[in-house]
Amino acid sequence: MESAEIRRRWLSFFEERGHTVVPSASLIADDPTLLLVNAGMVPFKPYFLGETKPPAPRATSVQKCVRTPDIEEVGKTTRHGTFFQMCGNFSFGDYFKEGAIKYAWELLTGSVADGGYGLEPEKLWITVYLDDDEAERIWREVVGVPAERIQRLGKKDNFWSMGVPGPCGPCSEINYDRGPEFGPEGGPAVNDERYVEIWNLVFMQYERGEGSGKEDFEIVGDLPSKNIDTGLGLERLAMILQGVQNMYETDTLRVVIDKATELTGVRYGDSHESDVSLRVVADHIRTSVMLIGDGVTPGNEGRGYVLRRIMRRAIRNMRLLGATGPVVSALVDVVVKTMGQQYPELETDRKRIETVALAEEARFLKTLNAGTNVLDGAVTEARNAGSTVLSGDKAFLLHDTWGFPIDLTLEMAAEQGLSVDEDGFRRLMKEQRERAKADAKAKKTGHADLSAYREVADSAGATEFTGYTHTDGEST
Ligand code: ATP
Ligand code: MG
Ligand code: MG
Ligand code: MG
Repeated sequence: MESAEIRRRWLSFFEERGHTVVPSASLIADDPTLLLVNAGMVPFKPYFLGETKPPAPRATSVQKCVRTPDIEEVGKTTRHGTFFQMCGNFSFGDYFKEGAIKYAWELLTGSVADGGYGLEPEKLWITVYLDDDEAERIWREVVGVPAERIQRLGKKDNFWSMGVPGPCGPCSEINYDRGPEFGPEGGPAVNDERYVEIWNLVFMQYERGEGSGKEDFEIVGDLPSKNIDTGLGLERLAMILQGVQNMYETDTLRVVIDKATELTGVRYGDSHESDVSLRVVADHIRTSVMLIGDGVTPGNEGRGYVLRRIMRRAIRNMRLLGATGPVVSALVDVVVKTMGQQYPELETDRKRIETVALAEEARFLKTLNAGTNVLDGAVTEARNAGSTVLSGDKAFLLHDTWGFPIDLTLEMAAEQGLSVDEDGFRRLMKEQRERAKADAKAKKTGHADLSAYREVADSAGATEFTGYTHTDGEST
């Protein structure tokens, strides 16, 4: 089943059951706590928080999502993309646990002829939160899932919360058993590659109290109205329904891999390393197109830096695959063509998307050409000195003089088997910032100094990549 058909079936299933179809919101979150939309529920947050009255009690959507914290998994696990689409159904004080569970089961196991996805019930494993007896009972008694295929998991995986105070509640997840070739048996509690998580059902029923993080907090009471928030990864379901090994081989991403092969001559399946690179390229180029499509431009902080880092990783992986010249134009073209079927604005906006992507490629190739020799020299020097660590000085020099963000130095050093003295690097960055601050102060007091502008550039270059997307709204 093609991705477009999976999407169509999702929306019509829930529309037929009284849900209002809501188009995907932009990836640029209308939410100061969040850099990019990372879950289907994000656009509905004001309804869940009781800030705005929902126009209808039920909604469904297929939401564009970007999860930058998953970047390291891309190409390595079979199931994490930086961009993916989350299919969701939502109830604002309307149906609750039993309704959500029954819908999920009906849609997943319903026959293809009747609009379902036709999954075999025996391959589905369920997780519920530790003390959520109610959900467990519904799965067993109402749906008929045998007790052996229901597992209980703790807060890390199966409890959702947002803000303090804010709504929270247990989750129940549906996982698909891909068979023994993906690992030993034992269910999702022990193996998340074989029993791949496809759908998360969140039951918002409590109010969260003080406490920190995802796990250490109290429940202080019941919510006045109980809500449902669910999220199913379209690419993960596509991977199962298309019978492929990982999400990068599904219809909308495989074409990008094939284009990369055309450009480099490296075929998918040649080696593990080159396959990881091909998958990174497919994922990252698609994410870049979707981000630029929603108005993000490459830069040194915030969303701009997310885009810059993702684009640069894609380009660098193309070079690891052997490409020497520009490659972005051809890759962007194929993504716009494929994703344009679901998001026609990409086609209309093609020229601008290409222009932004090409300018970034040109800028990066220049940086890369200039800095690579310096980095290689530093690596040889470290090796000759019998060390496996690139010094903070070198990382700082690469950043300061050659425009290499620390992420890039880290990755390129790692490819050659070296780590980087990050603490040393950050110390030098800090010293430089402090110098700049002092200079700026001196300038204000009349002692002119031109180095003050550097503070901006340097602190931007040191932007931490992960972390800031790990705010609320992560689960589903
Ligand atoms: P995982 O444990 O596999 O990392 P998750 O628990 O972080 O997934 P949720 O936050 O529950 O995921 O999101 C709901 C659904 O969105 C998941 O069940 C999955 O199908 C999909 N999903 C989550 N992250 C990704 C990703 N990086 N790429 C593709 N699909 C994803
Ligand atoms: Mg995750
Ligand atoms: Mg999970
Ligand atoms: Mg989950």
